[in-house]
Amino acid sequence: MIVNEEIVSVNKNQGEKNQKSILVIADLHKRYDEGKPKEVHALRGLDLTVQKGDMMAIMGPSGCGKTTLLNMIGHLDKRSSGKISIDGMDTATLSDSQMTAFRRDNIGFIFQLFNLFPFLSAVENVETPLLLRGVKAGVAREQAKMLLRELGMGDRLYHLPSELSGGQQQRVAVARALINQPAILLGDEPTGDLDSTTSADVMALFRRINKINKQTLVLVTHNRWIAEQCDYIVHMTDGRVSSIEQGPFKKEEPPK
Ligand code: ADP
Ligand code: MG
Repeated sequence: MIVNEEIVSVNKNQGEKNQKSILVIADLHKRYDEGKPKEVHALRGLDLTVQKGDMMAIMGPSGCGKTTLLNMIGHLDKRSSGKISIDGMDTATLSDSQMTAFRRDNIGFIFQLFNLFPFLSAVENVETPLLLRGVKAGVAREQAKMLLRELGMGDRLYHLPSELSGGQQQRVAVARALINQPAILLGDEPTGDLDSTTSADVMALFRRINKINKQTLVLVTHNRWIAEQCDYIVHMTDGRVSSIEQGPFKKEEPPK
């Protein structure tokens, strides 16, 4: 699998540094099974600010709250307390139905297992979010095709996920997450199942998306090399941010 785009410099254009915050998290707490004996205090007063167009990695030991944090940012689950603003919108002020629409329009998810519909072709998988939004079928199909072509998948439009390689499936998943042009893309180990060459291709793709569309990427990873493809690394311990390691990092070949 080949990604033709040049590796984009990690060095940000300084003129873009004074952007507004896309995500502000303040004193965020998440308790599972609150008030019960088995209560788990997964996020313990987490603070984090992410600027528009940042590409950041989250690292930390298993159980430190990385997935919980992504679920909070994606509003897939309710926080216990604390503040989350996305693009200036305090999300606590939104009703459930407003939140559903806000999430659909602003946040994209790239899951490790791709979550593609197995009986839908690549193009059908990608157009689904548009159809759910009420976009006309012909228009949705054209947009899905355009995006897949842009991702080098023009000759695989009508293949089923089972007929695609892992890297190709991941591109379909990326296309599906991108089709609504969400301001924030969230990935939990998005390259977890891929070999190192394919991981490198997918990271180059993320870098390109980030650079061209100024979309913000938040990627959880255990892989140091993957993390170093981002602008900076947020380290988590015990439900909090313990440190932030600022890039740019040294460019190295992916480990074999
Ligand atoms: P990470 O992704 O960093 O490995 P998680 O966010 O998945 O960590 O989990 C943080 C803590 O919250 C862990 O102690 C985990 O057992 C607990 N936890 C996660 N999800 C749930 C859940 N749905 N119900 C109860 N506890 C949970
Ligand atoms: Mg996790």
